[in-house]
Amino acid sequence: MQADLPEPALRLAFDEDALCANWKALDRLSGNARAGAAVKANGYGTGAARASRVLHDAGCRDFFVAHWSEVPQVIAQVPPAQVSVLHGPRNEGDAAFARASGVKPVINSLAQAQRWLASGGGRCDLMVDTGMNRLGVSLGELDHEAVQGLDVDVLLSHLVASEEDGAHNERQQEAWAAACGTVRHARASLANSAGIMLGPDYHGNLTRPGIALYGGIARPEMASDIRQVVRPLAAVLQLRDVSAGETIGYNATFTAPRSMRVATVALGYADGYLRCWSGKGVLRAPCGEPLPVLGRVSMDLTVIDVAAAPSLREGDWVEVPFDLPYAAQVSGLSQYELLTTLGRRFGA
Ligand SMILES: *Cc1c(COP(=O)(O)O)cnc(C)c1O
Repeated sequence: MQADLPEPALRLAFDEDALCANWKALDRLSGNARAGAAVKANGYGTGAARASRVLHDAGCRDFFVAHWSEVPQVIAQVPPAQVSVLHGPRNEGDAAFARASGVKPVINSLAQAQRWLASGGGRCDLMVDTGMNRLGVSLGELDHEAVQGLDVDVLLSHLVASEEDGAHNERQQEAWAAACGTVRHARASLANSAGIMLGPDYHGNLTRPGIALYGGIARPEMASDIRQVVRPLAAVLQLRDVSAGETIGYNATFTAPRSMRVATVALGYADGYLRCWSGKGVLRAPCGEPLPVLGRVSMDLTVIDVAAAPSLREGDWVEVPFDLPYAAQVSGLSQYELLTTLGRRFGA
């Protein structure tokens, strides 16, 4: 007989209403276009299955993952025809899986176009490179018969720096518009989260927000429309008293200047609380008191100063402040990294 797992020592409080509201706000900001959703990388670390379900209920009908391995979680929640795989068919196996599952491959090169056609073809999306030089068919290749022979649903391109103003956005928009005139397609798509704020010329028929769905502020002007979605919480495993002169954690990077009450919490770099927070992060007690990180963050544990919360007990939950723009500024990580590095040990 298998024993039931006890309560986890890490929780990711997830606000489904906020995710739903963020999608609706982005859909509205997308004007005449509909908003889709990037749910790759496990829904930016927040859980792809749950995110897909909530987004589908909100009205989203276009979902983007990167890897084929990410498909099962998403199609358990939404119809396969609404799912696109950004990496495209690398080989015959990928193409066969696309046909069998009913998801759309994103075609990124002439070779992928030929592979998809050779496997029988069918509905697909087409990524056109307009300056990223990462994935995508080049503009000069668009009149190739393999590209012209595709049954393209979404013709997409991806902006290199939509969170910044500059000529690069306009150049890419013009190249994408030209590509749209060259290849037959049902719908056109250019904007990611930040790109939505660049205005109607960037919207086409479909936008592809990711980070902003999950609470990231991709451009300052969207801050008032976007709500925080996830809050990581960690359990206090142990309280201890440390005397003046003692050190805390690996490599003894912190020496207690006086006797201190400290707490050890069940959170470490394996959970996405990376070592950049060492000696710098501040967790929060249940009533909001600040609990500064002492010494190094280790793989599974972090030690905090609990002087501000004398009533804190073993078993209590402390919160990792997750205001993404602020956390990014303090840690030096991007808002994307803060979310996608969240580990696999969080419970609901
Ligand atoms: C990840 C991704 C997105 C979403 O980008 P955000 O900046 O997170 O909004 C959109 N399109 C493509 C092709 C992507 O790879």
